Amino acid sequence: MPAPAVFAFDNTFARKLEGFYVPWQPAAAPAPRLLHFDRALADELCLRVGDLDEGALGSLFAGNTVPEGAYPIAQVYAGHQFGGFSPRLGDGRALLLGEVIDRKGRRRDIAMKGSGRTPFARNGDGKAAVGPMLREVLVGEAMHALGIPTTRALAVAATGDTVQRERPLPGAVLTRVAASHLRVGTFQYFASLGIGEDVRKLLDYTVARHDPALARSENPALGLLEAVVARQAALIAQWMNAGFIHGVMNTDNMTISGETIDYGPCAFMEAFDPAAVFSSIDQHGRYAYRNQPEIALWNLTRLAESLLPLIDEAEEKSVALATEVLNTFPKQYRAHLLRGQRAKLGLARDEADDAALAEAWLALLHAEKVDYTLAWRRLADAAAGDEATLRGLFANAQAPDAWLGRWKARCGREEAGGADRAKAMRQANPFVIPRNHRVEEALSAAQDAGDLVPFEKLLAALRRPFDEDGEQAPYGEPAPVEVTACYRTFCGT
Ligand code: AMP
Ligand code: MG
Repeated sequence: MPAPAVFAFDNTFARKLEGFYVPWQPAAAPAPRLLHFDRALADELCLRVGDLDEGALGSLFAGNTVPEGAYPIAQVYAGHQFGGFSPRLGDGRALLLGEVIDRKGRRRDIAMKGSGRTPFARNGDGKAAVGPMLREVLVGEAMHALGIPTTRALAVAATGDTVQRERPLPGAVLTRVAASHLRVGTFQYFASLGIGEDVRKLLDYTVARHDPALARSENPALGLLEAVVARQAALIAQWMNAGFIHGVMNTDNMTISGETIDYGPCAFMEAFDPAAVFSSIDQHGRYAYRNQPEIALWNLTRLAESLLPLIDEAEEKSVALATEVLNTFPKQYRAHLLRGQRAKLGLARDEADDAALAEAWLALLHAEKVDYTLAWRRLADAAAGDEATLRGLFANAQAPDAWLGRWKARCGREEAGGADRAKAMRQANPFVIPRNHRVEEALSAAQDAGDLVPFEKLLAALRRPFDEDGEQAPYGEPAPVEVTACYRTFCGT
């Protein structure tokens, strides 16, 4: 089959960073079949898919036909996994096909995941199963609809192959779109080898790609650190306000772009519990919900270490400058968190006690084991004058009395009236999140019965998270307690 000219590729990474990757080809898929294709995203990326039928798209997105202009490469990177350093990870089962410029002029990576073993595969089989790849679609697209920076899912194709996990599963390839796949671990790789020249090359490339204004600044390395700290502080605050738990915040899973990446064992919180951990591989709770800001800073410190020689020749000065930047993280994070909380609380003005008000609300939800997402959503009803739905979430309907009194007094000092506040709150507090039981239900139908309808319905609901209507209703309900109590997500391997 001739290579279709779907993407207008312009592959700067491959061109400018030779030695930072291995050119590689996707494995052949025995029986490709298209499971998911996001036409709106394809349009945003200026793809030319008009004359391709379902079969051709399946073959393309399963990796059987490499599109014209693609130069598939496996990128190398290192990473701290659960705190331990792996000097050489790299794309074991992923390939960067190339980069395109989207309608807004932004450069985006087009990459495949599950496309076969690469020289970085170590013991892995290079494959991915249908369930985890569709899971990445659901959770990633939910994040996108919530306004949280994230990589996007363009397509998923079944390969027709069998993937051996705890049981045999159908194989799939995910095509992922990202601002870039540069990670903290990419810097760590070259820094740990002590190849200063390569770290410099990587820095120049990264700056040109993500922070071009820094190229002419006095200290681009310090500037980049500052930029990444700022992006991650904003990102993690959004995660926390959405109740999102990434699950594997290893340094190879933290981007330089500030996008969320690698949806493996992630989940949205149901009943509020700061200690919540979902990942079955996170035995010590390192990546628990409440630890995420601290872990982000820990990861950023690893980035800073990698950049030290480029920040200043004198190590002491370099450390002092980097430390100063890292020290701004907590304050930036808290400011973003509070800004989000104010919006969620329906507050437009800033008052000194707002953080305490938000904290007291969270403490209440924790103590009463109330569903995080619905509690916020029902608080909007309360703003509109109906407290019954909120009280209905508590075992004891009077439990929120004291806090509600405080909040209503605070709202009284705002200009907006209740109806406007409720409306604004419904834009800040989603009704639909990817509920674990709904996600599992959709994935098992797709993976075990080949039925994609539940997946498509759930995806449609997740794409309009702030709408609450009859169609959305089944997706807004929390899981039965028995399901939540023992819920664990497994690594997407
Ligand atoms: P992850 O935890 O998915 O971000 O992956 C961590 C590292 O393991 C990366 O280097 C991946 O490329 C690699 N990896 C994960 N799963 C597989 C697999 N099934 N085959 C080969 N490499 C894998
Ligand atoms: Mg990863």
